[in-house]
Parts: sequence; structure tokens; C-alpha cells
Amino acid sequence: MDYEKFFSTSIADMKEEGHYRIFADLERKAGEFPNATHFSRDGMRPVKVWCSNDYLGMGQNPKVIAAMHDALDRCGAGAGGTRNISGNNHYHVLLEKELADWHHKDAALLFTSGYVSNWAALSTLGSKLPNCVILSDSMNHASMIEGIRHSKAEKIIFNHNDPADLEAKLKEIDPARPKIIAFESVYSMDGDVAPIEAFCDLADKYNAITYLDEVHAVGLYGPRGGGITDRDGLCDRLDIIEGTLGKAVGVVGGYITASANLVDFIRSNASGFIFTTSLPPAVAAGALASIRHLKESTFERNRHQDRAAETRRRLKEAGLPVADSDTHIVPVMVGDPVLCRQITDTLMSRYGIYVQPINYPTVPKGTERLRLTPSPVHADEDIDHLVKALREIWQELNLKIAA
Ligand code: PLP
Repeated sequence: MDYEKFFSTSIADMKEEGHYRIFADLERKAGEFPNATHFSRDGMRPVKVWCSNDYLGMGQNPKVIAAMHDALDRCGAGAGGTRNISGNNHYHVLLEKELADWHHKDAALLFTSGYVSNWAALSTLGSKLPNCVILSDSMNHASMIEGIRHSKAEKIIFNHNDPADLEAKLKEIDPARPKIIAFESVYSMDGDVAPIEAFCDLADKYNAITYLDEVHAVGLYGPRGGGITDRDGLCDRLDIIEGTLGKAVGVVGGYITASANLVDFIRSNASGFIFTTSLPPAVAAGALASIRHLKESTFERNRHQDRAAETRRRLKEAGLPVADSDTHIVPVMVGDPVLCRQITDTLMSRYGIYVQPINYPTVPKGTERLRLTPSPVHADEDIDHLVKALREIWQELNLKIAA
């Protein structure tokens, strides 16, 4: 086989279809988010970032940065091993206690990313629970899908956010079989929210366990920022709550929280937890400082919701095709990958606005979009500038503007 030819043809096909990924070369400016420097062939220039998942700007919070500096000076750079072999730093232990408390659970377990936490937890549960069936929402994230696939357990996909379809599928399964219902709270591309309580009622009725990914909600919702389950008083209805430290918490890493037995079971069996170097102590210290802050402070959450609502309102007022959502994610629908890239290139080159085009396979073909993530650090003038830029581009490209 001509391997090089195979690789280059595959890449050429992606470019032809318009979903080849080009990364923006950026340097974020701590203390000045959402400002960043963009490096390109034409040199470097300042840009405003409108698509970051550092939703609250905690990546530049002075308490977080100070905690990381302090831990770095005290403990050095890396953890030095797996959790089992010398890499169990005291910051990991403190952070797991904090996470368990955040979600009103007995225990928590850290992973190197949210992706790994989903992959490791679901693949372990699906493979170890005898004759297990996993019921998975049709819009679940790739990390859950891959974890389920790797478990080799039977998988049944139910219609997105649809309790009636879930129940129809649960009814068909032998009541004696172990069942996991796996879903997300806030779906990251459309910003819609799952009917969590209805899913939990079904789990009770059919003796299933519930696995909830709160990656796009932790830090952002609820009186203590514990996510949608914190907001709706549902923490104790979920068996496993999974989250990330890489988005609203502003650092990196992932985790699950659950009963002491369940967490101990994953800790003792999950290869994606056991056989890998643990997070650097400074990362754990930064996440710890961030979560402690977010448990107490509602300022960031309130301002975040205000900025998202204001951005959505202004885009609608300008007649731009903003999709409805009750959450902080503001999708502007384009429906074509080449056009999506053309719009974002113009935003960057002409207006100094950075929005990554969201194309297949992240979203289904035909639903390509700009995924805007307003944050507490976006000022009114930033919103004005964004709306004006988009309106001008829409007019120039003869795209539909609502009256
Ligand atoms: N779960 C969902 C729903 C996600 O959208 C993502 C990442 O975007 C992840 C899990 C993975 O989290 P992390 O970025 O911490 O690996």
C-alpha cells in the first residue's frame, strides 16, 4: 500500500468537503481576556476571542494563578507517577474531597481530562457489570460514545432528550439486566438541557443507574456552581456525575463523583485511571482554588448569563439566525461548511474577531454554525463590534437577514 498517498488523499477529501480543521495560532493574554494575539503568515495582531470554553474567565483569576504558582514552587512541575506509584499528591486528595462536596456525593476520582473520565468510567462499568446494557442519548459526546464502544456492552441509542423513547426502549430490556442511562445536562453545540428528572424517574422505575455528563454546566449553574443538578436540586437522584476542570473551572482535567463504592470500583478497575501519570500538582491546586471560589461567588455566573442573554438579544435584533437556547451557548446557524469558514476568516482578518467554524463531524452536515460563547469578560462594546461585523458579512454574502 502507498501509505502517504492514502493519508494525503484523505486530507484532500476533507479540504474539498470543507471540514478540514485549521487551528488558530493564539496567545491568550492573562489579565486581559478575551484579548489574545493571533499569529499568522501576515504577522501577529490582537484579536478578541468569542469561542472559548474558559466560560467564566477563571483561567486568569488571580486566586487560581497564585495557587498554581505556589504549588509549582512547593511541589515542582510534574506529579512524578501514577496515583498508585508515587503520584498521589496531597492536592489531588484535597481536590477530590472538594469535588465530592460540590456534587453532594461521597467520593470523587480525578482523570487527566473530561474525555478520559467519560471513556474510562463508561468503558469500565459497561465491561464489568455482567450483561450490562447502556442506553445512550443520540447526541452524546464522542468520549461517551467511545467509552461505551470500548466496553463492548450492548448499546441502545434513544432519541435526544426524549423520555418517551427512552421508556419504550427500557421496557424491552430484561428487568434483571444491569442498565446504565448515559446523557448530558447541557448539550454543548445547541445549548439545550436534558429532562434530567424525567430520566431519573425512569431509572428508578426500571432499576437503571444514571450517568450524567455536566461538562458544560459545572461552575455555571446552581447556587454553588455544581451544575444543572445543583440548580434543580437533583444531585442525589444521579448515580454518577461527571465533569471537567478544563472549561468553567479554567484549568484542565476531568472527574467523576458518585457513591464511595462506585468510585472505589472505578479507581480499582479503570485502565484509563490506573496506568497514567496523574495531573501536575499545580493543576490540581489551580482547580481547587477555582472551585472554592466558584462555590462562594455568584458574580461570574450572573454576569455570564447576562452577557449570553444580551448577545443573543442583540443578534436577534439584527436579524441574524441565532438558534434558541436557554443556556450560555449562542449558536448562529450557517448550514454550509465552506461558507462557515469564509465567515470566520473574514471575522478574523477584517474585524479581529476569532470564532472557530463548527463543522462536521462535531455537528451533523448541514448544521454548520458559529458557536459563540459570551463570557463575563466580554464588554458591551465587544458585543456591539461582533453584531456589526456579522451583520456586514451577512449583507455582503447576501445571506438571509430576518426582517
Ligand atoms: N463531555 C462533553 C460533553 C464535552 O463537550 C467535552 C469536551 O468538549 C468533554 C466531555 C471532554 O472534556 P475535556 O475537554 O475536559 O476532555
